[in-house]
Amino acid sequence: MKVKYKIMREKAIKLEKLMKKSKEKGLKLTPQRMVIFNILSEHDRHMTADEIYQRARAEYPMLSPATVYRNMEQLVEAGLLTHLDLGGPSMRYDTNLDEHHHFVCEKCGKITDVYLKDIHYELDPEKSNLPGVRIDSPQLYLHGVCGECG
Ligand SMILES: [Zn+2]
Ligand SMILES: [Zn+2]
Repeated sequence: MKVKYKIMREKAIKLEKLMKKSKEKGLKLTPQRMVIFNILSEHDRHMTADEIYQRARAEYPMLSPATVYRNMEQLVEAGLLTHLDLGGPSMRYDTNLDEHHHFVCEKCGKITDVYLKDIHYELDPEKSNLPGVRIDSPQLYLHGVCGECG
């Protein structure tokens, strides 16, 4: 019972954050957008556009894939989500806006947020031909086997 309450509370907090940010950015809280926000706050953080569409359609059968994809892109542009590109065929979205990296399990495909302390990214000037470059957002993808699969 307590666990369930905690999950509901976490969902409510996430939903509230999305709605607040959305208002700040001048995005209207349309019924379609609310369906998407509900899904984003309820489920895993790294869903593909298609997974989001499938879930949205279950709740709101009138939704077209184009509407869902367009809404997702608007949310990325407004800074409520980021793209997560794992190199596979489908683009994923990330609702965690804190600076973080990802651990990808090679067996079950689960993607987990990881936070790394004190990394200093320094280009090797002899091997990298990028004079004068400044790195703003390094993204690391750590591949391995998760605790449940290992
Ligand atoms: Zn795994
Ligand atoms: Zn993430």
